[in-house]
Amino acid sequence: MGVQPLPVGPPGEQMVQTLRVGRVLPSATAALLGPTQVDIGDDGRIAAIRPVAEGDVSPDEARLMLTPALCNAHDHGRGLSTLAFGAVDQALETWLPDLARQPKIDPYLNAAVAFARLAESGVGAVNHCHNTQDGAALLAEAEAVSRAARDVGIAVAFAWPFFDRNPFVYGPLAGMIDQLPAAYRDAVAGRSGGFRTCAQNMALIEQATAFEHARFKIQYHPVAPQWAQDETLAAIAEASTRDGRRIHIHLLETERQREWADRHYPEGFLAFLDRIGLLSPRLTVAHAVWLRADECALLADRGVTVSINLSSNLRLRSGLPPLGALLSAQTPVALGLDGMSLDDDQDMLRELRLVQNSFARPAKNHPSIDPTLILDGALRIGRRTILGDDGGGHIAVGAPADLLALDFAALASDDITGAPDAMALLLGRAQRRHVVRLIVAGREIVADGRCRTVDLPALESALIEQARLAYRTSPPDMALIRGIQSAVGAYYEADLHR
Ligand SMILES: [Zn+2]
Repeated sequence: MGVQPLPVGPPGEQMVQTLRVGRVLPSATAALLGPTQVDIGDDGRIAAIRPVAEGDVSPDEARLMLTPALCNAHDHGRGLSTLAFGAVDQALETWLPDLARQPKIDPYLNAAVAFARLAESGVGAVNHCHNTQDGAALLAEAEAVSRAARDVGIAVAFAWPFFDRNPFVYGPLAGMIDQLPAAYRDAVAGRSGGFRTCAQNMALIEQATAFEHARFKIQYHPVAPQWAQDETLAAIAEASTRDGRRIHIHLLETERQREWADRHYPEGFLAFLDRIGLLSPRLTVAHAVWLRADECALLADRGVTVSINLSSNLRLRSGLPPLGALLSAQTPVALGLDGMSLDDDQDMLRELRLVQNSFARPAKNHPSIDPTLILDGALRIGRRTILGDDGGGHIAVGAPADLLALDFAALASDDITGAPDAMALLLGRAQRRHVVRLIVAGREIVADGRCRTVDLPALESALIEQARLAYRTSPPDMALIRGIQSAVGAYYEADLHR
């Protein structure tokens, strides 16, 4: 099923050997460089960086500012937006049942569209927490996402979902089923079992390693502690210690999750996760909105990275993550879009701005957030959670040639000082329309602002056409979905989760 991407030609054709730009921002903290030539080796790494005379840079090159490629540390590969199928933004707990409105679509198309859109917003590496459409077809879905990563050419960490408890609500399902109209009780009870076991997931991952390639690596993804049994979390912690594979988990995204966790782990929720060995430098936690200050410090101490997803937290009414506490504890913080950017445009550059401005409060007890830390999260820290320590995330000889060229002339078009502040303009104004080129491992992915490895407009139309057809031929059972949403709402109103 599905549409094949346009031929991309042999990889050699898209390799960039040399580029010249007017400015280079080598990292979040380094000083800006002037006109520069960057040479890229056949190994996809930076071979040389040298200053060039202003006259040796063409007007088109002089416009550009080169930075390391951006990283999106938490996402789900939503080529088809949730708004496209009518899942309206609301609190996470009632939003999740709405996702059942999504028609069945080709996992390749869905992922390729998502990855190509991200590439056009300057993202060279992404975490992909996979949402299965058909649990029985997970292996085939993983293969499709691996192909999409290869074709688009950005790096993808595929987080393999382990989900084996608490469907629908956190806590006893009976309390929610009681709130349903009688006609739906059997249907919901019937969907409450049949999870892939931890052992089945481990065996499938063994097979899925065949899909790994330079731009596609598998990670363990216990979806969240409330959705994975304690034994599953422990088994994953142990497997990761043994094989070094990274773990990615949603953690304390909403207040109801916090309340459930406090009720169910009297020894302390984070203390439990620590005792079973889950908290390590190999772990990324997404959201962490309801983390307490001492827990931020514990995560810092264990070397855990937190991916904050501010747009998503706003759209799903989760609250704001404790960014100040995380940064003062020196917890590594990365940024993710969660497929839910504020304007539903998957624009990583705008997310930087949203994060910076949401936490800028000039008050004694709220030191404003250092913008370089936010940029560092998007350049270096997020990258580590996807690719490990590969020497990337900055522009230096020997580092992977994962590079983003922005139209600095457009960013600074109204500057009257003659010495525009690159950092202020990048964080204050940049958006996807300023992306000119994206290079990943020396390969040109985006040129003139358009993804060149696949035909994004063609893939988008194919995806939407396919989704419309599937929606028409097997429309969602809206009465059932609404019934579940109102029972879920009543369950939490009655405080049955704690
Ligand atoms: Zn998520």
